[in-house]
Amino acid sequence: MLIQDARFLTSNSRAEDCPAPTMPEYAFIGRSNVGKSSLINMLTNQKGLAKTSSQPGKTQLINHFLINETWYLVDLPGYGYARISKEARAKWARMINFYLRHRPNLTCVMVLLDSRHTPQAVDLEFMEQLGTEGVPFVMVFTKADKQSSSRTSQNVVQYLEKMQETWDELPQYFVTSAEDKMGREELLGFVADTNQQ
Ligand code: GDP
Repeated sequence: MLIQDARFLTSNSRAEDCPAPTMPEYAFIGRSNVGKSSLINMLTNQKGLAKTSSQPGKTQLINHFLINETWYLVDLPGYGYARISKEARAKWARMINFYLRHRPNLTCVMVLLDSRHTPQAVDLEFMEQLGTEGVPFVMVFTKADKQSSSRTSQNVVQYLEKMQETWDELPQYFVTSAEDKMGREELLGFVADTNQQ
């Protein structure tokens, strides 16, 4: 898919206030520092579209971008911040759960996972929740340039094995690097294949 146009639309704290659900929507989420902003900027070919290294604890918002006037890319606030109050964590959960359950045009959630790490409980729990609620998702491994491809494969396989303990059907996955644009065509191809209404 050729990205001809990518622009920021709005930030909202309530799913009800998000843009009218008239187009297919792909939401990106993951632990803080997983490389979400870098990936969004790499996919859209725009260096500063998503803000990199956002500060933990700052206002957590649902950010909508309009791509090629045909689909929404959504940057969701991440999870797994170590230094965050219980109250802020609960607020995040309420907002995200409402968004995931009530966004009728949500085509797929892109769950970002750091390819350097073995399966992390917080990520497995989040995907477990998506699966239980029937929210479509794929796994997107980030920062693959940081280690050998065999190391990346080992971590991917470990994730798949963990998922297999609970689910019969394994989610699709992509291996990416914002640094060298790995996985860009595959991920955008997936969006092109799935966003026909
Ligand atoms: P976010 O908090 O999930 O939005 O993560 P960022 O996109 O801000 O990235 C966190 C850190 O990881 C930054 O220092 C990025 O430069 C770095 N980073 C992100 N993606 C990649 C990647 O694909 N390769 C490498 N080498 N570094 C990356």
